[in-house]
Amino acid sequence: MSFTYDYYNPTTIHFGKGKIEAITKHIPKDNKVLIVYGGGSIKKNGVYDQVVKALESYEFFEFSGVEANPTYETMNKAVEVIKENNIDFVLAVGGGSVIDGCKYLIAASQYEGDAWDFLDGSAQVEKALPLGVVLTLAATGSESNTGAVLTKRETNEKRFFHSVLSFPKFAVLDPSVMASLSDKQLANGLVDAFVHTCEQYITKANTSLLHDGYAQTILKGLVTLANDWENRRELVWLENLMLLANQALNGFIGTGVTQDWATHFIGHELTAYYGIDHARTLAIVQPSLLRVLKEDKKDKILKMGTEVFNINEDEEAVIKAIENLYEKVGISTNLNDYEIDDKVIENVLSGLKIHGMTAIGENANITLETSEKILKMSMK
Ligand code: NAP
Ligand code: FE
Repeated sequence: MSFTYDYYNPTTIHFGKGKIEAITKHIPKDNKVLIVYGGGSIKKNGVYDQVVKALESYEFFEFSGVEANPTYETMNKAVEVIKENNIDFVLAVGGGSVIDGCKYLIAASQYEGDAWDFLDGSAQVEKALPLGVVLTLAATGSESNTGAVLTKRETNEKRFFHSVLSFPKFAVLDPSVMASLSDKQLANGLVDAFVHTCEQYITKANTSLLHDGYAQTILKGLVTLANDWENRRELVWLENLMLLANQALNGFIGTGVTQDWATHFIGHELTAYYGIDHARTLAIVQPSLLRVLKEDKKDKILKMGTEVFNINEDEEAVIKAIENLYEKVGISTNLNDYEIDDKVIENVLSGLKIHGMTAIGENANITLETSEKILKMSMK
């Protein structure tokens, strides 16, 4: 099969310790800036002070309290702040949640209707304010991609949208600011980046040597970091995680290749109903999904075995190696280890149905029955 693609990624990356001051290069001096952040970790670890110092000659405002898994309800409050103060530029300071929330914000503040329209697919973003990012958690790749995932608290819905207008103008990736992350968040970041890569790699073989090799390098890097877990507080470990997570989902390895994302879609429902951390939902769903779709994904699973894990055995051995990787960083792959109730399968299936997720995965063959099988298999 011939290979074609179109690639565009306009986000300028400033990577390395001490790079936060670079934000001023991109924000016009006369702009009113809204700094958006989460629950306050940036006030404890010095990131807030660095940002405010860099912006001392600007007029800036603040909006805080963006929750992990950002909500439509909270971000609509930020829309009001933008309108009241005629904000020109939004600066997201945080992890994927703050960044995704800001991608919604920059578009919602320029939209006349109910901006949930972007999430339910009834409208496309046509206008948005410029966005910049100071990343504090390596995981999602949101700092230089077009995606945003928002939750509507009222209806327990977790949905996503993409827009080329969501690309941040710049992102500062200073790995030293991750020193204050908990082990749990570091593990989540590693697993999210790993699954992002898998969603674009464990699919049909319509790919180039460069794309396959690049994905394998990212996966191998993340395996190396998991094996080197005891050194996770070293700057070099954090640097590698930040770079790998960024490259896992900045768009390149997914260009021109078949993508899957069914693990994410099923996982989103688990977070929406039970608040389980995003990465943990992926660790629960993915091994069972691979087992159920072993035939479809055989070639790539085996290739991943030889190229990433150095295993020349069957699919089950590779899936086991993936499970061991997640367990090694302290993340259980067993749905029964999480706070769920006996309606879990019913709830997830109903969410998938409401959101039209009834034929998902690279071959659109994961029906609700298949998702049910995957979920049952993940209750070990
Ligand atoms: P997050 O939800 O942004 O942050 C998780 C927690 O880590 C928060 O409590 C946050 O605290 C804390 N934190 C962040 N940086 C810290 C630091 N340097 N030190 C100490 N604590 C810190 O985590 P995330 O994994 O980056 O984002 C998850 C969200 O992104 C989910 O909603 C997921 O669905 C979505 N997602 C998006 C994409 C995409 O492409 N857009 C891809 C995958 C997943 P504070 O609140 O105090 O900051
Ligand atoms: Fe993810």
